[in-house]
Amino acid sequence: MGILVTRSSMPPFEEYCTEIRELWDSHWLTNNGGKHRELEARLAEKLGAKHVLLFTNGHLALEALLRVMQLKGEVITTPFTFASTTHAITRCGLTPVFCDIRMDDYTLDPDKLEVLITKRTCAILPVHVYGNLCDVDAIGDIARRHGLHLLYDAAHAFAVEKGSKGAAGFGEAAMFSFHATKVFNTIEGGAIACEDDELAERLQRERNYGITGPDDIVDVGGNAKMSEFQAAMGLCNLRHLDEEIAKRQQVCQRYRERLSGVEGIRLCPQPEDVKPNYSYFPIVLDGYRKTRDGLFDELTSEDIHARKYFYPLTNAFACYCGKTGFDPAATPVARRVAERVMTLPLYADLPLTDVDRICDVILR
Ligand SMILES: *Cc1c(COP(=O)(O)O)cnc(C)c1O
Repeated sequence: MGILVTRSSMPPFEEYCTEIRELWDSHWLTNNGGKHRELEARLAEKLGAKHVLLFTNGHLALEALLRVMQLKGEVITTPFTFASTTHAITRCGLTPVFCDIRMDDYTLDPDKLEVLITKRTCAILPVHVYGNLCDVDAIGDIARRHGLHLLYDAAHAFAVEKGSKGAAGFGEAAMFSFHATKVFNTIEGGAIACEDDELAERLQRERNYGITGPDDIVDVGGNAKMSEFQAAMGLCNLRHLDEEIAKRQQVCQRYRERLSGVEGIRLCPQPEDVKPNYSYFPIVLDGYRKTRDGLFDELTSEDIHARKYFYPLTNAFACYCGKTGFDPAATPVARRVAERVMTLPLYADLPLTDVDRICDVILR
C-alpha cells in the first residue's frame, strides 16, 4: 500500500452529523452563525488571543489583513514559504523584498533583515516555517526600532507555544491556516489573531463586503466568510486536537530515533522552551549518498510520497520570472535548503511500521 505525505484529520462521522444537526433545524448556513461564533470563542481561548476572526481560508485572511492595514510599498518576507505568502503581498499591490533564512530552523534570519529596510519598507511578514517559531525577540526588536508593522504567517504554527505565549502572541497580528492538510483543519479555513479592537472590526468588515448594518456599507470589502459547515468541522476537530498532536509526536519521535545522527541528514532543532505541534517532518540532505531528487524518486518508486516542501522558492516562481527583486541567488541559504529539503509522510494515524519502512529506504 502506498504511503501519502499527509492525510486530513477527521472526527468520527457521527460526531460531525450531530454537530451539523442544528443547521437543518435553523437553516442558518453562513454569516456569523452559532457554530462560527462558538469556534471563534474557542479559538480565542486556545490561541490566547483577544480576537480571532475566522475566514474561509488562510490565504484570504492574509490578503484581508494586508488590505485593512492600508500598507504601501515594500514588505520584507521570506522566499522559503508556500506560494500564499508572496502572492498575498503581490496581489495587495505591495512589493515583496526577500530576506534570507537561517540554516538551522529555516526561518527568516534577523541578522540579514536590517540591511533590507529602506524608506519604502512598511512591514515585515515572516513565516513560522514547519511550526518552527521565528526569532520573535530579535525580529520584534528590529520592527519596533524602525517603526514597521510586524505580521506573522503562522499557518504552520497552530497550538505552538513558547514559554507561556502562543504563536498568536507575536507581532500585531498572526494568520493561521485551517486547510485540510494542516494540524487543525476546518476543511478549508483560516483566521487572523490580534489584540487591537479596531483592527478586528476592520477585518470583520473586510470579510463581509464592508457591511456594518442593514443599510450601512462603509468599506469596499470582499467576501471571505467561513460557513457553518466549516466551523462545525473545526469544533469537532478541536475536541480531538490533543490526541492528534500526541499521535503525531509518536511518529516524529520514531523518525528522530531512526534518522538523527545519520551522516548527510539534517533534522530541525527542538528548542526546550517551545511546545511543538509536530506539523511537518522536514529532512535536509547535505552530504547524503543521494541528492534530494534522487531520494525523492527512490521513495516514489517504493510508493512512498514525500513532498519537496518548499521547492521552488517563491522568488524562483515562473509567474515572477524577470521581475526585479525576484532572484533566488540573493537568498543563497534559502536556495541551498530548497534544493535539499523534503518533508516526510506525517499524519496522526501513520503506522510506526510505515515510518520504519520509510526509514529503511532512507538508511539502506
Ligand atoms: C497553508 C499555508 C497558507 C495558506 O493557507 P490556506 O488556508 O491554504 O489558504 C499560507 N502560508 C503558509 C506558509 C501555508 O502553509
